[in-house]
Amino acid sequence: VKERSAIFIIFGGSGDLAHRKLYPSLFRLYKSGFLKDHFAVIGTARRPWSDDYFRETIVTSLKESFNDDEKIMEEFAQHFFYQSHDVNDSEHYIALKNLAAKLDDQFDAGHNRVYYMAIAPRFFGTVAEHINSEGLKADGYNRLVIEKPFGRDLDSACELNGNISKAFPEDDIYRIDHYLGKEMIQAIPKIRANNDKFEEALNNKYVSNVQVTLAESLGVEDRGGYYETAGVLRDMVQNHIMQIIGAVASNEPDATEAKVIHKNRTELFNSLKVLEPEEVDKDFVRGQYDTDDMGEQKAYRQEDNVAADSEIETFTAGKIGFDSDRWDGVPFYVRSGKRMPDKSSRIDIVFNEKVEELGIRPNTVVTLLIEKVDGQSILINGIDYKDSKQDLIKLPAEEKTDSAREAYESLIIDILAGNRIHFTLWDELRSTWKYIDAIRQRWDSQTPDFPNYVSGSMGPDSAEMLLERDGNSWIWD
Ligand code: NAD
Repeated sequence: VKERSAIFIIFGGSGDLAHRKLYPSLFRLYKSGFLKDHFAVIGTARRPWSDDYFRETIVTSLKESFNDDEKIMEEFAQHFFYQSHDVNDSEHYIALKNLAAKLDDQFDAGHNRVYYMAIAPRFFGTVAEHINSEGLKADGYNRLVIEKPFGRDLDSACELNGNISKAFPEDDIYRIDHYLGKEMIQAIPKIRANNDKFEEALNNKYVSNVQVTLAESLGVEDRGGYYETAGVLRDMVQNHIMQIIGAVASNEPDATEAKVIHKNRTELFNSLKVLEPEEVDKDFVRGQYDTDDMGEQKAYRQEDNVAADSEIETFTAGKIGFDSDRWDGVPFYVRSGKRMPDKSSRIDIVFNEKVEELGIRPNTVVTLLIEKVDGQSILINGIDYKDSKQDLIKLPAEEKTDSAREAYESLIIDILAGNRIHFTLWDELRSTWKYIDAIRQRWDSQTPDFPNYVSGSMGPDSAEMLLERDGNSWIWD
């Protein structure tokens, strides 16, 4: 393990994301030696906290997920410093700059800076501009990490991108899509590259359809306020589902260079067939959850901070198509929703009858489980690939023993190493937003008949009909 040196400046250091995801991931990196002596973390937020109080909050939240000796948590927390900060106050940036410089000396942190935007998206642009204009950048690297959502449509994404790219060159911008940090998503290109027969079958000659499901059993919980500005199309499809499709469907899975991988993903997303308004009515359905059969759970419209007549969708299913030699004619059915029967994140690749000519059983279904269930991660026709008696997929030995890293942990390692493969480029976002906007605009011009599915169900019936119409059906049902 190679120790890394950097000063992290976490904007929004008192927030939910910082405490639930970032600090636990930094702590794991500390325990594994990636971070050791030469790093410090500055948390910023509006409240006037002392370093000691900030450290207490860190240790308290670590105790929720780790049972390590408190001593190591305290030792880790000694690398944390707090700076109260208002995003619009120039003087606060000068104070941050001075603190960062001082800590860089104290910890011998190599003049590297990671600026992490764990703050409301409306501040991303302002903060990035101030980092630049107030001269926060140091002599080593200066990497800007942007959380989701990256805009709420193409126009706002363009504006945001314009603002941050005035302050940082594209190569220093790390746009997070935490699905790209997940072990299975990172394994997909390797699995494709290592299994010739599987890769040979991954195209419109042999694939009947691909299904991506990101189902949650929970409702919006306490995030109603945020959800009212988003909806599942923006929250899950534009980013995570598109990136999952990118891993399955883009060319050259054996590519290792970030530039090549990004080029291939961009090419794929550029070939998305943007839907005409009438096609939206046919190919995308939306839903909003009602109470459950027993009337015990809240309907979406009864949740806190949700409008009583909200038209926000908590479920969508749709059919995505590509205009490319490889994928023309293959439907990519996607589905995501809250209050579904179980939590499940999976990709089902359904082959047709012709695969027999490659020695694959006709109509084989390969399922890639994004979150492992019972230690299984790949199923062939519903059973663990190792027991499937088909040599379609073999994982190299190292793959099996690879200890699972949390998505954020693996993404932070990449940021420190300057590896941008698992981050999204502006060109990719532009194409996916363009695709999503066409659906959103059509929906915004119509009044949905909500609520239209019972909590604990598979969503509205129209989601089943979407596939039945094509003679297909959902594999996960
Ligand atoms: P949060 O509301 O819990 O935290 C926001 C932070 O910003 C707080 O530390 C707050 O003090 C600070 N802040 C607010 N106004 C400020 C101002 N004017 N000046 C300086 N600081 C200010 O939010 P969160 O849930 O942690 O989300 C942070 C970011 O991460 C958002 O962009 C969100 O979209 C993204 N995100 C969050 C999650 C999650 O699970 N919470 C998941 C994915 C993405």
